[in-house]
Amino acid sequence: MTTDLAEFAAERGVKYFMISFTDLFGGQRAKLVPAQAIAEMQVEGAGFAGFATWLDMTPAHPDMLAVPDPASVIQIPWKQEVAWVAANCTIEGEEVAQAPRNVLRRQIKEAAALGFNVKTGVEAEYFLLTPDGTAISDPMDTAEKPCYDQQAVMRRYDVVREICDYMLDLGWGPYQNDHEDANGQFEMNWDFADALVTADRHSFFKFMVKSVSEAHGFRATFMPKPVEGLTGNGCHAHISVWDKDGNNAFATDNGTGPTGELGLSEQGAHFLGGIMKHATAMAAITNPTVNSYKRINAPRTVSGATWAPNTVTWSGNNRTHMVRVPGPGRFELRLPDGAANPYLLQAVVIAAGMSGLRSKADPGKRYDIDMYAEGHTVEDAPKLPLNLLDALRAYEADAELTATMGADFSRAFLKLKRQEWDSFVSHFSRWEREHTLDI
Ligand SMILES: [Mg+2]
Repeated sequence: MTTDLAEFAAERGVKYFMISFTDLFGGQRAKLVPAQAIAEMQVEGAGFAGFATWLDMTPAHPDMLAVPDPASVIQIPWKQEVAWVAANCTIEGEEVAQAPRNVLRRQIKEAAALGFNVKTGVEAEYFLLTPDGTAISDPMDTAEKPCYDQQAVMRRYDVVREICDYMLDLGWGPYQNDHEDANGQFEMNWDFADALVTADRHSFFKFMVKSVSEAHGFRATFMPKPVEGLTGNGCHAHISVWDKDGNNAFATDNGTGPTGELGLSEQGAHFLGGIMKHATAMAAITNPTVNSYKRINAPRTVSGATWAPNTVTWSGNNRTHMVRVPGPGRFELRLPDGAANPYLLQAVVIAAGMSGLRSKADPGKRYDIDMYAEGHTVEDAPKLPLNLLDALRAYEADAELTATMGADFSRAFLKLKRQEWDSFVSHFSRWEREHTLDI
């Protein structure tokens, strides 16, 4: 059923629509369109100059049109006269191949052609900082092990409750909120759903958390490692794959084959095999910033653990590995961080997993050790990239993954990310001066 956005406005008292798309760097861009003009925009799309965003276009490109997907519309809970709607980018009637929501929709279509529907949930951790972004907003939040600190979570109750109430009203099925493992860090969990629904909600969640936090005088950040020495912002993804009849294709009790390790079916093991095979290349997308590599290759934090992997390993219900299989029928990818683009994150998980299914990939040996204490004993598993440049090189070298994600997308992504790396390395740091001046 297609929602008529003009009718939606009339029924709900919506005065403006925010037609929103996400660029390659995860930035959300929007036009505010009055309800009186939405009927035409729903068909034609809102016009943008693509060059002005991170999509690798030139000023000479024709107008890019962002066509709203009415299935994604959300009346903004803290500003009810405005509705947010995710859009698909087109130019002259053709989908923009590198636009992240289009990249994900293509992967979903490919999986559907093989009879699969990927469902995911994300754990989008964030910090609440002072408005200038330099300090944790709560000066009393200083415990060495602050995870689940009930005193500290209640000092930010007004922010957490407001966001959770909105998720309840929107029907996302939120079920728990907590203070996380770093001072000033929080996590809120809501139900898993189809990958595109989760990607749209993940985008809206970031917008919502930032907006509500600003209204309370704080600055929310999803930056992978915003505070040196503390646990970083992960964005763990929980993944399951379902067949056409709605059965969990990852679970062993679905009758598709012999029972596997940890309740993972043969198909589940192959999907996991694809993730393991492409992990170092995937990092360019799941950990897409210079700062990302200060989280996944971090030394021990103040709390005692980084909660982030540095090696491509998988395990059962053990959080020290890149992949955790907590129970039958699903697994958790602990690699992604808060900088991951919500659409590209889901797209690369599906692309890598489906390649594993096609090639019947083997996930390899399972490790049941504490990777934080005994990681040095693992000799036959690849290390995750040490920095963004290594990750970009790994992605570029993975011909199968770059082709599956789309040649146009991969070219544009690598070009813009290499520019970002060049900008970083041309920047002179205080560290360099301190370590080199008197050499
Ligand atoms: Mg967490």
